[in-house]
Amino acid sequence: HGMQIGFIGLGNMGGPMAANLVAAGYSVTGYDPVPAAADKGAAAGIRMAASADEAVSGAGVVITMLPTGTHVLNVLSGDGDTLGLLAAASPDALFLECSTISVDDATTAHALMLETGHRGLDAPVSGGVVGAEAGTLTFMVGGAGEDFAAALPLLEVMGGRVVHCGGPGAGQAAKICNNMILGVSMIAVSEAFVLGEELGLTHQALFDVASAASGQCWALTTNCPVPGPVPASPANRDYRPGFAAALMAKDLGLAADALDSTGVRAELGRRAGEIFRELTDSGSGGEDFSAVINTIRAATAS
Ligand code: NAD
Repeated sequence: HGMQIGFIGLGNMGGPMAANLVAAGYSVTGYDPVPAAADKGAAAGIRMAASADEAVSGAGVVITMLPTGTHVLNVLSGDGDTLGLLAAASPDALFLECSTISVDDATTAHALMLETGHRGLDAPVSGGVVGAEAGTLTFMVGGAGEDFAAALPLLEVMGGRVVHCGGPGAGQAAKICNNMILGVSMIAVSEAFVLGEELGLTHQALFDVASAASGQCWALTTNCPVPGPVPASPANRDYRPGFAAALMAKDLGLAADALDSTGVRAELGRRAGEIFRELTDSGSGGEDFSAVINTIRAATAS
C-alpha cells in the first residue's frame, strides 16, 4: 500500500492495532511518550517518531487511540510547544478517532477537523485487548459515508465487524448506549444471584432456569458473575479481566454526560455508573466488571 498512516497512542489497544496494520503491509509511523510503548511499537515494525507532529507529517490517514477526550482535543490542537495534529497533518488527511470519549468531545473534534480542511470519523471499538491483538474488534463509526468507505479497508484490518452508525458522534453514541445496557444488565444478573443465595437457591439452578428463560442475556450466559455455570467467565479466575471495571465506570460516566446533555431520564444507567464507581473506589478497578457482584454482596445486610 502506498498510504502513510500516522498512529498516535500505542498503549494496550493502539499498540496491537498499529502492529496489525504493519503486518497487513501498511507503512505506519507512530508516537507515544511512554518509552515502553514506543519500544514495543518499534519491535512490531512501527517507525517511531520523536513527536506526534512528526508522526503525522505526510500521512494520508491519522489514527488516534488515547485515554480520554481531553487527551484527544489537546493532541489535535497542540499546546504551544507542539503544532498539534490538525496543523501538522497534510491537507485533506482522514482522521480516525478510535478512543472512547464523550459524544460532545467527539463532535467538537469532528468540527475542528473540518474547519482545518481535514476529514474525520469517530470510530470507537469494543472487543478489548484480545480483540485488538487478534484484529477482531467491533468498530462503531460516525461520519460521512464517503469517509467511511475510504476508511473501511483499514478498519477491516483492525476489526472483525465494522458498523456505520450515522453522522459525527454516532459511533460514540452507539458505544455508550451498548455499554449502558451491559452495565445495567450485569448488575441485574448479579443482584439476582445474590438474592438467590439469600433464598437458598444454587447458582446452577438459577443459571439453568434464567439462561433458558426471559432473563437470558450476555452478562448471564457469557460473562456469568459467579464461578461454575460458564467455565470461561472471569469469575472462574478470580475476576481477572476480561473487561476491567475501571473501563466500565469510565464508559458509564460518558453515558451520564450524555444523559445530562440530552435530559433523558435513565435512572438505572445513571445508578449503574455509581455502583461501578463504588467497585473501582474499593480498589477493584483492575478486576473484571462482573466483580460488581461482590459490591452487591458487601452491601447485603446480614
Ligand atoms: P492505554 O492507557 O493503554 O493507552 C493509551 C496510550 O496513549 C498510552 O500508551 C499513553 O502513553 C498514550 N498517550 C497519552 N498521551 C499521549 C499523547 N499526547 N501522544 C501520544 N500518545 C499519548 O489505554 P488503552 O487501553 O489502549 O485505551 C485507549 C482507549 O480505548 C481509551 O479511550 C479506552 O477507553 C478505549 N478502549 C479500551 C479498551 C480496553 O479493553 N483496554 C476497550 C475498548 C476501548
